[in-house]
Amino acid sequence: MEAPGAGQPLVVLKDVDKHFGDLHVLQDINLSVAKGEVVVVLGPSGSGKSTLCRVINRLETIGSGSITIDGERLPEEGSALAHLRADVGMVFQSFNLFAHKTVLENVTLGPIKVRKVPAAQARERGRELLTRVGVESQADKYPAQLSGGQQQRVAIARALAMDPKVILFDEPTSALDPEMVNEVLDVMVGLAGGGMTMIVVTHEMGFARKAADRVVFMADGRIVEEGVPESFFTAPQSTRAQDFLSKIL
Ligand code: ADP
Ligand code: MG
Repeated sequence: MEAPGAGQPLVVLKDVDKHFGDLHVLQDINLSVAKGEVVVVLGPSGSGKSTLCRVINRLETIGSGSITIDGERLPEEGSALAHLRADVGMVFQSFNLFAHKTVLENVTLGPIKVRKVPAAQARERGRELLTRVGVESQADKYPAQLSGGQQQRVAIARALAMDPKVILFDEPTSALDPEMVNEVLDVMVGLAGGGMTMIVVTHEMGFARKAADRVVFMADGRIVEEGVPESFFTAPQSTRAQDFLSKIL
């Protein structure tokens, strides 16, 4: 299914640089992600993948360059930032659900508070989304009562509830027991097939091959190489990528 506007640039990073003290964590990053595109970001630990996600969501500032979401430049702060940030969903390795809220409340809180959706409507939509990710029977439980795989699916439902323009996934299956990885990846594959714009940091090569339109390979804060999964995995060009793939495949 092609989403409206598919193919137009949605997330655009131009000449983005960032330092943490002496560490040049993002170097001259140029990346354009189109509406409906699924980009998988690969790279060794410490290469800047999480920081890349965090600057796109403005959880971190950038030193220079620009980031636009659907043509709007990320503002520094204030209500304009909250508004734009609501367009960017985020799913973290550690789930980050609100421990003292029920599963359904986790999914309805953002729409009610930020999007000003009436509570009854938010709950109805929340239940639909929980059904979509296969955890509807857990709606009234608390996160700690759920398995890791279930919690991560709730986190995905929570992101979807905000109707984001793009969802960033930062190693969403890395903290899961192996038997729970696929239930989360299956939900993500479904989203990808449904036209959601996604930027996914993952080491799950099966997901990358199945769902990614493009693979971006980072090392030392730079995008070293990018391409369609088939060519990246079978014929990586850079020695960094060759070295990385030889260790994980
Ligand atoms: P990745 O997600 O690819 O493993 P990160 O973006 O988490 O990489 O980190 C890139 C580099 O930046 C690492 O060397 C890390 O130690 C460093 N780093 C990350 N966050 C901070 C921070 N808040 N302050 C200082 N250094 C940081
Ligand atoms: Mg990381």
